[in-house]
Amino acid sequence: MSNNSFDALPEAVRALARADFGEVAERFRAAGFTVGLPAKGILTVKAAAPSTVPSAAPSVSRPSVLLSVGVHGDETGPIEMVAHALEALSRTPHALAVDLMLCVGSIDAIAVGKRFIDADLNRMFRLQRGDLAGTFEAGRADAIIAATRDFFEGTGARRWHLDLHTAIRGSRYPKFAIVPQLIEAEARTGLIAWLGLAGIEAVIMNPASAGTYSYWTAEQHGAAASTVELGRIGTLGQNDLSQFAEAADALARLLRGVSQSGGKAPLVFDTAQSITKLSDQFTMSFGRETENFTPLKKGDVIATDGDTVYSVQHDEECVVFPNPDVRVGLRAGIMVVRIG
Ligand SMILES: [Zn+2]
Repeated sequence: MSNNSFDALPEAVRALARADFGEVAERFRAAGFTVGLPAKGILTVKAAAPSTVPSAAPSVSRPSVLLSVGVHGDETGPIEMVAHALEALSRTPHALAVDLMLCVGSIDAIAVGKRFIDADLNRMFRLQRGDLAGTFEAGRADAIIAATRDFFEGTGARRWHLDLHTAIRGSRYPKFAIVPQLIEAEARTGLIAWLGLAGIEAVIMNPASAGTYSYWTAEQHGAAASTVELGRIGTLGQNDLSQFAEAADALARLLRGVSQSGGKAPLVFDTAQSITKLSDQFTMSFGRETENFTPLKKGDVIATDGDTVYSVQHDEECVVFPNPDVRVGLRAGIMVVRIG
């Protein structure tokens, strides 16, 4: 994205896209919060330590909410949505009822209007990175991982992480979320209920990490975490924000500690199989333009990879995130089956 198109953006959006938290940070600081800027593009706002306000409830009793946007630099809708939410909240700072960390993931990719610089940031959250280790995004992930650890360290049990994305391709359920299976049952139920309030139509339970940020926080920090797909990808400043209205409303309430009820329960899907690209011989029966949740019938070939043939095992499996162009060793798609 050129500087000219940045200049046309609303101030709050431009500031967030440039990792400039100046004004917003100042408002929270002036209201008595402890504000941190642990790395470029990362803001933390916590209740002041109890020792400074003896009668105040300690910070550990507040839920901790991590919001991440722009983990893929071309997914700009959630950046706009969160910029407006943060701007509004900072004008009534005492309404903030949680400890908040906001992470703008791929600051450098956003600046040039790209998805990433070297490699997909949302595959870096793993202990062994293999040939991803030397990439630009590996360094960025290290900074995010350190800030995330510091944020959750010493906080109470109610930990949330909403990693907000938009999809490249169409989807039979335009708004859907991936939820790590290992989240403790009660927290998971609360998370899925919130996702319903946010307009999410379908939830995929994921049994294994693909190196995503949300799986990392669930596994390492016990967070009720989810990768949330809020709709279609768009250009910064030109997103149709009406598609995010329910999510924006649910988020505003979450941050203010306003209890919510209602919402439609999302459909629930289980992961039937993860399709991993094992070699350069990998070919998929469909391209990356295939709609998410496109159904396939039992026996249909999903992909071949040398002698390995991936085929549909259940009566019906739906494909999500098909992408034959990923690097060898990474996930090229998920097959899901509806369970609820
Ligand atoms: Zn994404």
